[in-house]
Amino acid sequence: MKTPVIGVLALQGDVEEHIAMTKLAFKEMGVDGHVRQVKSAEEVNAIHGLIITGGESTVIGRLSSVNQTLQAIKQRIQDGMPVLGTCAGLIMLAKKVYDRVLGETKQSTLGVMDIVVERNAFGRQRESFETELEIPKIGEKKFKAVFIRAPVIREIGPEVEVMAKLGNKIVAVQQHNMIGTAFHPELTEDTRIHQLLINKVMNVYKL
Ligand code: GLN
Repeated sequence: MKTPVIGVLALQGDVEEHIAMTKLAFKEMGVDGHVRQVKSAEEVNAIHGLIITGGESTVIGRLSSVNQTLQAIKQRIQDGMPVLGTCAGLIMLAKKVYDRVLGETKQSTLGVMDIVVERNAFGRQRESFETELEIPKIGEKKFKAVFIRAPVIREIGPEVEVMAKLGNKIVAVQQHNMIGTAFHPELTEDTRIHQLLINKVMNVYKL
């Protein structure tokens, strides 16, 4: 049996937290898996699944287009590699991005997921907060979700499945091999979102 390898895009953002959560998820699943930082196109081509971190999407977008990981990641995702984007990482997946104040940002993203997102959508009053979300796909127990200058998903295409809502705002989605959350599952103790990614990886690559 081959060992699943998850990469965490390590250009900017909360890389260590995702590495720790992925290790914990493998442990809880009883799966012998690896997780490693990914910084180059070559490294993108040597993993089975990728996590795109929270942080600052304009910075991740710029750095990844300069070092050519952006194109490599896009190609891998289009070829079926599973990916999880959290917060800024969700923005990176989106085909179109708006800023609440500035309008369409035209920042560089992968543009692979059929969603329109709005950055910083909760405004200054509610920049950061925690809440309990219902995410039926991963089980009955509510998920403690941490939102930090979070985006929301404004529009979804026909292939996109809504995984969670906060009031009337869509905050987690899935489109085939891609998972996106507006919140930060890596900042909790709950590995269920990471497990969802690992399960997709094992299915896609028959590991
Ligand atoms: N507001 C950030 C952005 O637009 C995302 C914040 C985060 O990842 N915590 O990229």
